[in-house]
Amino acid sequence: MFKIGCHLSIANGFLKAGKNITELGGNTFQYFSRNPQGGKARPWDQGDFDGFMEYANSVGIDGLLCHAPYTLNACSANPQTREFARMVFKSDIEMLEHFPNALYNFHPGSHTGQGVETGIQQIVEILNEVIYPEMKTTILLETMSGKGSEIGRSFEEIAEIISHVEYKEKLGVCLDTCHIYSAGYDIVNHLDEVLEEFDALIGIERLKAIHLNDSMMPFASNKDRHAKIGQGTIGLDAIVRIINHPKLRHLPFYLETPNEDEGYKEEIELLKKHRSK
Ligand SMILES: [Zn+2]
Repeated sequence: MFKIGCHLSIANGFLKAGKNITELGGNTFQYFSRNPQGGKARPWDQGDFDGFMEYANSVGIDGLLCHAPYTLNACSANPQTREFARMVFKSDIEMLEHFPNALYNFHPGSHTGQGVETGIQQIVEILNEVIYPEMKTTILLETMSGKGSEIGRSFEEIAEIISHVEYKEKLGVCLDTCHIYSAGYDIVNHLDEVLEEFDALIGIERLKAIHLNDSMMPFASNKDRHAKIGQGTIGLDAIVRIINHPKLRHLPFYLETPNEDEGYKEEIELLKKHRSK
């Protein structure tokens, strides 16, 4: 089955978002756990959740991806920011444990001048504090474009974080096509080699989700600007190879392209048309 969806708001609840993705032609979606620029979570609404689960099971919506707020930075030089990251992790995981197989994606962080090694240590420290053995949620480290002091710009950095986390089985990776192209992984001309490198360093079985975005910026520019599918430097042909690749095609794909509902609907339709049987 082709698992395809886009980023949606849950401001009006999960059930509403579920019906929205059906209208757009998708069968999964990504949402922010809370305001991406702020910190306050919606209060948990059991009735909405139960209604959503019933609806999701009836139409075959599966594999929701929760995205942590952008303000979460587990390796900021500011201890208050790290404390906020700890709080958000704990409270988001508590919310996500309601779901059968939740995926929780976060940006590893920006070391804000402390250096990559210190940054990685601080990310590991927080992950080791918030992950517990009975946790059902899988936490995904997102591959980043490498702007500023971002960590997660290379497969080596992601692999190093994972290697120091105690409950590694709770960790996975979300690969953002725009970010890795900007970070210097040539998925347009060398997709097989990039995936081989991923497998050698991280293990392809850790790959749990794809952020499917085109890029406004040139290859290896370390800039993070998402473009609509087929309208950027990655291009439709390369994106079609990605959604059909034997190592990737079983994964859920989430569009984070600059679109409103109408644009997402068109992109989902376009991708379904190009999905091989
Ligand atoms: Zn992201």
